[in-house]
Amino acid sequence: MITYTKRCAICGKEFTTKSQRATACSDECRRIREIDRGRQKRERKRGKRSTRRDGLSLSEAARLAREHGMTCGQYMAFLNTESSRRGKWND
Ligand SMILES: [Zn+2]
Repeated sequence: MITYTKRCAICGKEFTTKSQRATACSDECRRIREIDRGRQKRERKRGKRSTRRDGLSLSEAARLAREHGMTCGQYMAFLNTESSRRGKWND
């Protein structure tokens, strides 16, 4: 059986693997890589814009509301309670 000697993309350690596509040496490193990949995907999707919650455009609010399974009105109410709660905590 063919084995490949590779360098782990996460910890940099050399390892041997039977999979030509393997990029991580261990389950631990694979998990870290998957978490990292998921985070990058989420951040790209969001566009990494600094979202001022009170400065949301209506289309953005509608989109976010859909993501949260709410109507636009419900979502705006949700944002209002969130920000008022935070205001209380800041005092
Ligand atoms: Zn590793």
